[in-house]
Amino acid sequence: MAAEEPNAESMNPEAAGGSPAAPSNFVRDIVLADIASGKHGGRVQTRFPPEPNGYLHIGHAKSICLNFGLAREFGGKCNLRFDDSNPCKEEVEYVESILTDVRWLGFEPDGIFYASDYFDQLHAWAVQLIKQGDAYVCDLTAEQVREYRGTLTEPGKESPWRNRSIEENLDLFERMKNGEFPDGTRTLRSKVDMGSPNLNMRDPVMYRILHASHHHVGDKWCIYPMYDFTHGQSDSIEQITHSICTLEFEDHRPLYDWYIQRLGIFPPQQIEFDRLNLTYTLLSKRRLLALVQQGVVSGWDDPRMPTLSGIRRRGYTPEAIRTFCGRIGVSKTNGINELGLLEHAVREDLNAHALRAMAVLRPLKVVIDNYPDGQTDELEAVNNPEDASAGTRMVPFSKVLYIEQDDFREVPPKGYYRLSPGKEVRLRYGYLITCTGVEKDPATGEVTTVHCTYDPATRGGNAPDGRKVKSTIHWVSAEHAVDGEVRLYDNLFLTANPNQENEGGDWMANVNPNSLEVVSDAKLEPSLKAVAAGARYQFERLGYFCVDPDTTPEKPVFNRTIGLRDAWAKMQKTQQG
Ligand code: ATP
Ligand code: MG
Repeated sequence: MAAEEPNAESMNPEAAGGSPAAPSNFVRDIVLADIASGKHGGRVQTRFPPEPNGYLHIGHAKSICLNFGLAREFGGKCNLRFDDSNPCKEEVEYVESILTDVRWLGFEPDGIFYASDYFDQLHAWAVQLIKQGDAYVCDLTAEQVREYRGTLTEPGKESPWRNRSIEENLDLFERMKNGEFPDGTRTLRSKVDMGSPNLNMRDPVMYRILHASHHHVGDKWCIYPMYDFTHGQSDSIEQITHSICTLEFEDHRPLYDWYIQRLGIFPPQQIEFDRLNLTYTLLSKRRLLALVQQGVVSGWDDPRMPTLSGIRRRGYTPEAIRTFCGRIGVSKTNGINELGLLEHAVREDLNAHALRAMAVLRPLKVVIDNYPDGQTDELEAVNNPEDASAGTRMVPFSKVLYIEQDDFREVPPKGYYRLSPGKEVRLRYGYLITCTGVEKDPATGEVTTVHCTYDPATRGGNAPDGRKVKSTIHWVSAEHAVDGEVRLYDNLFLTANPNQENEGGDWMANVNPNSLEVVSDAKLEPSLKAVAAGARYQFERLGYFCVDPDTTPEKPVFNRTIGLRDAWAKMQKTQQG
């Protein structure tokens, strides 16, 4: 017997051909123990069960990585199941976006299912519970049901309809199904225990009357099962071995198990883990929907949104999100993770893979007075210093250039080593230049043009006499520059914990009014002219940028994914050193 049982050893990730780096956590430990004990014959079947009432967000990514990750690691399967028992808030648009996002994250569901496809079976099971004396039709209104339920300190009161005969219950439930009663007039409730300390066990509603059309099953039903009567049984139908969900369902587990036990069907094990919370980020579909509906953002895929479609458009990579989800791990207590940790994972990935380019966001004209008129020099620039295989490209250099306004000071403050009158700097991949003077707008006194000379012997950036310059700045040749739009983003919320603050009050008051700045006249190097939406770059010295779908061949549009400064990595260093 023992020889036939799969054991943890033979199922280790490397042996199973999975990822060797799977982080250990308590959910994984449960799965390992179940494989070792031969529960379910060593089979691992998980699912990711979103309700299609909004777009997926970064919190869902944690659940996706956990569910698909465990299945992958142990040679199991993971389904995508649309938990669609509430027709009022669900839409096909959401169904489609969810599938796109799961695939984008790098996971292909082993099966794609809809809880609504199980409505016939669920109905049959409801009838079974009525016949067993475990369910009854109740005529209390929703408000009365709430009143009768009691509180955490007071037991509930039994419904006057609780002891209807099985025949009457069967008849009324049938008539509910046939559409004889208006919405809200009756419910089907399970007969559990009105004295239970767990409110979820006080005769919870199984079915409500709702004359509403459903995005997936149309007008077939006018009664709809409640989440608690749908979820566990759907898991059971799909022979889910480990039903992994977030901690708020811990209190629902006794009910989950009660239905499965009363119905005598395959028993999945529900395991709860902590929801992802991120600083400066709101993770609730309801509130994200409000941001969309009230026009605070341009849509679910606005690059400031924490939705997967938003952060994809912003330039985040699926690899970085998976790395982040692996690093945060899972636990049994809710907390809040630093947004900086996610950003750190994104920077790491983009640093390794993004092509470098030069772009000037706030252009200041520089004229190299001793450079021949009409001449162009092609300078070789490295595409990615982290990846030699990315090669090099040629960047045109000419007499008139743009540099960042910030890289010039007529009167340099102490410690300022960039360009200023009489000072020499290096142009990235170019020459050493020295500032000789400025032109100003006579009306405003603003510097409009900086005059410089270049040293022809310093092509590539080094002086033959070995003289040092302290600063290297980026630039774009004016004649060759491509005009572009660059969208700069900041956190959508001003406070670190917008999820919990103003819980009952005006959470919208935390919205950052300056979360988007549009630079419409950026100057880009010519290689950035014909770029495809989704392409990612590092603009040297500025940060990581991703081509927005709004881009056109005439005017490229970039989103700033993230700046270069890694506060999180710096903090880690300080803590270690
Ligand atoms: P929201 O409150 O944002 O609407 P939800 O929990 O209602 O989220 P579902 O569509 O029911 O969203 O979620 C699908 C799965 O994703 C569930 O198993 C849920 O527990 C999980 N999930 C949702 N939000 C998070 C989160 N912030 N962190 C981890 N898992 C999450
Ligand atoms: Mg929900």
